[in-house]
Amino acid sequence: MTESTRPFPPGSYPVVVIGSGPGGIQVSYALRRNGIEHAVISEDPSPGGMFRRWPHFQRLLSWTKPHAPEPAGSRAYERYDWNSLLADEPQARALQPGLMDGTSYFPSRPEMEQNLGLFAERAGIAIRYGCRWTATRRIDDAEGGGFVVETTDGEYRARVLVVAVGVAEPYSPPGIGMELTHHYADVRPAESYAGHRVLMLGDGVNDVPVLAGADISVAMGSATDLAKTSADAVLLSNRLSSLVQAFGLARRTRRIIVENLVWASLYNGLVLPFAALGWITPIWAALGMSASSLLVVLNALRLTRS
Ligand SMILES: Cc1cc2nc3c(=O)[nH]c(=O)nc-3n(C[C@H](O)[C@H](O)[C@H](O)COP(=O)(O)OP(=O)(O)OC[C@H]3O[C@@H](n4cnc5c(N)ncnc54)[C@H](O)[C@@H]3O)c2cc1C
Repeated sequence: MTESTRPFPPGSYPVVVIGSGPGGIQVSYALRRNGIEHAVISEDPSPGGMFRRWPHFQRLLSWTKPHAPEPAGSRAYERYDWNSLLADEPQARALQPGLMDGTSYFPSRPEMEQNLGLFAERAGIAIRYGCRWTATRRIDDAEGGGFVVETTDGEYRARVLVVAVGVAEPYSPPGIGMELTHHYADVRPAESYAGHRVLMLGDGVNDVPVLAGADISVAMGSATDLAKTSADAVLLSNRLSSLVQAFGLARRTRRIIVENLVWASLYNGLVLPFAALGWITPIWAALGMSASSLLVVLNALRLTRS
């Protein structure tokens, strides 16, 4: 697209909408339906840029059910399709189900991106792409004031400004230990996690598929019954520190098992041949075997010390 054919050059508009995600596109659609002149700008090169980066786990959490008891495109079908944008024209309604490959009720990132692109095309949404909003100033004038929107393409003036820029800053909720966790935004690309062992800790019904699929899964003490039955282990309390203690105990148990096996192998390997050759009397053999067993039990009892 050449500069002369790009829509919405800098200038004055009643409304300026920033963003070409679902928010910006849906607002633009509604403004046009209501006959309100406006400009839409976006730093992205095409609709749905958010879904080229997120979610990391490749699929949305909101479903679209291609096979539903209501016909696609009807008002009642919207309950089964949480990802299509809303429109009055039949050709722009319920677009998401037709773009899914049928392997999941949850659209993949590319399927969601296609959904937004197709909606923009079918609904005739015009967007000035590659135009980055850099600053905003408030203006007060006799006509009721408004905004000056500074962009990489120049200045826009608008009475009303719609900012649909999504997650501008990754949000970290306050909480004890939050500073110790990796932020979702810092997670590496999904493929770099392939081939690793996964520990899943969870409590809710929505955690069940991951608990069932993880290499090791642990349910919290207050978890739902379904989560508990899907997990390999259940914490008896709700304290995360119990999990750290459990790992410590598991490591000590393993070390003591190895010690006992080494001792039993050495003892039996060294002493049994003497007994078999009759070089040790039965009384000393019985005493030696009992002492060895006692040693193994006492070594194992060390696990009961905190
Ligand atoms: C990790 C994650 C997972 C999610 N999963 C789901 C899900 O499964 N289901 C669901 O329904 N919702 C999900 N959401 C929420 C959903 O993505 C958002 O609610 C939705 O995308 C918001 O739409 P939006 O148009 O407001 O913003 P966005 O989709 O984020 O779009 C923002 C737009 O603003 C533009 N923009 C940003 N800054 C500038 C700038 N300075 N100048 C110009 N343009 C700019 C961007 O280029 C983009 O076009 C998820 C969100 C995140 C973060």
